[in-house]
Amino acid sequence: MNDTIFGKIIRRELPASIVYEDDEVLGFKDIAPQAPVHVLFIPKAVHVPTLDDLTPEQAFLVGKLILAAAQYARDEGFAQNGYRVVMNCRQDAGQTVYHIHLHLLAGAPLGHFGVPGR
Ligand code: AMP
Repeated sequence: MNDTIFGKIIRRELPASIVYEDDEVLGFKDIAPQAPVHVLFIPKAVHVPTLDDLTPEQAFLVGKLILAAAQYARDEGFAQNGYRVVMNCRQDAGQTVYHIHLHLLAGAPLGHFGVPGR
């Protein structure tokens, strides 16, 4: 059972601003955006709490998250300008939701390894 906030969003028990969905991936706007575009991409059917829990059999999920983000960037017209993807693992990286997710940040020049406002 995925009792995280993101599990509830997948089950539509919590509202979210969903901007992307395919068979395996859900994408929705981050509630506290750190860039003009800040979208989270998560696996829908498999609950993996952290990147450290990812098995070789589940590794394709990370590729699916990246492909979904790249598709969204093309669809929204900012792929040519560029974007950043980030995955945080556990406390030292600031992970707060324990269901793996890919942050997509874009919409302005991003500091090297930083984001606006940080
Ligand atoms: P992380 O810190 O890498 O675990 O990222 C978790 C992200 O989830 C943070 O950027 C939060 O702002 C975001 N977040 C938390 N709750 C929600 C929510 N209900 N809807 C959308 N984003 C959320």
